[in-house]
This record gives sequence, C-alpha cells and structure tokens, in this order.
Amino acid sequence: MPAVETLERIAREISVCTKCALHESRKKAVTGEGPADAEIMFIGEGPGFHENEQGRPFVGASGKFLDQLLAQAGLERSDVFIANVVKCRPPANRDPQPEELLACNEYLEGQINAINPSIIVTLGRISMGKYVPGAKITSIHGQMQKIDGKFVIPMYHPAAALHQPALRPAILADFAKLPEQLNEARTALGRPIIEKKKITVPQKSEKPQQLSLF
Ligand code: URA
Ligand code: SF4
Repeated sequence: MPAVETLERIAREISVCTKCALHESRKKAVTGEGPADAEIMFIGEGPGFHENEQGRPFVGASGKFLDQLLAQAGLERSDVFIANVVKCRPPANRDPQPEELLACNEYLEGQINAINPSIIVTLGRISMGKYVPGAKITSIHGQMQKIDGKFVIPMYHPAAALHQPALRPAILADFAKLPEQLNEARTALGRPIIEKKKITVPQKSEKPQQLSLF
C-alpha cells in the first residue's frame, strides 16, 4: 500500500480511537502531518491546548519556536513529518503514562514504517525514552545514534528550551547540525540526494463524522 494511503488509514483509526483513557477528554486527536516521503521525522510528546483545539501538531508557542529551529536547519515545516508519542491531549498537559504510550505506540510505529525516514528526531525526554530509555538528555542531545537500524537524534523539547533560556544555545546548535547529519544518514543508508516530488497527507485531522469523505 502506498505510504500516503497507509498514513491516511492510520489517521482515520486515530480519530476514532478509544484504546486509552486520553480519548475521554480529547477534542481533536492530533494524528501528525507532513509529506509521506519525509526524510526527517520529528516525534514530540503529545498535543497541548492549542493542538487539541485544532487537531494539528505544534501550533502553539512551542510550534512557533519549532518553526524557527527548522529554519536554523534550512528546513520548512512542509519538508518534515511531525508526530507525537500520544495522539490525544493528556489532561492539563501531564506526562503521558506508560499504558498510554504503549496503547498509542502502534500508530506511531505504523507511521514510522510507512514514512521510513532517514532520520528520526525525538523531542524531549518522553519520546527519547522510546529509543533510549533511561538516558540523560543532557548528555546525549544532538548525537545521532543507530538504533534498530534507524538513525535517531534525541533533542530537547522546544517547550523546555522556551521555558529554560539556558537550553536555547544547545537546541539551536543541535538543529544547525541536522543537515550534516542528514547527509551522513543518507550516505549510510545508500539513499541518493534527489529532488523529490512531495506527497502530502491531509494537513488537518478530520472530525470522525467527516471521515467517510476520505
Ligand atoms: N508539544 C508536543 O510535544 N507536541 C505537540 O504537538 C505540541 C506541543
Ligand atoms: Fe488512542 Fe493514542 Fe488517543 Fe490513546 S492517545 S485514545 S491510544 S489515539
């Protein structure tokens, strides 16, 4: 099945998912967005207030900062796929619980497999934990590692850097390294640098009752 169709199927499933308690208080699930053939995939934590309202990832203050960080790497949002470890907002933005991460993981895995990005950037401690559980983000941020055949770069969460100005230089420097790391990953994966046509998945998660329109 073409990646774009797989992503659409996953997005439809997420929109009506009741596999964990987070569905009870969600307004809109945030399925994730970006091109199905993105070379870089960002994995954040979960929707916050604005994301829950709009059904799109990183649209609040940390999203604005993420846009600046992407620009630092010569990237635009439309170049990358942005997902989260949980697709529904944890009440009062609390940390997602282990059972919620577990329940939601199959969607994220499905997205990663469909996109097959050259690089996965985890944003923050919780999504880092998917690949390097127990690691200290202060010692490994910005370092690309090969984990289960995937190139993974743990980075600070933009929201953390917004609230702790001392982290800003580090997150800016980490994003500035991305283009070089992408070339490294491409070479290691034997992926030539090509001008690709963009295949985009829907930019907004649809309300469940509109899903039959897909
Ligand atoms: N923070 C996240 O981790 N993800 C979002 O989508 C928005 C804010
Ligand atoms: Fe389903 Fe994930 Fe939402 Fe939980 S967070 S209800 S597993 S989509």
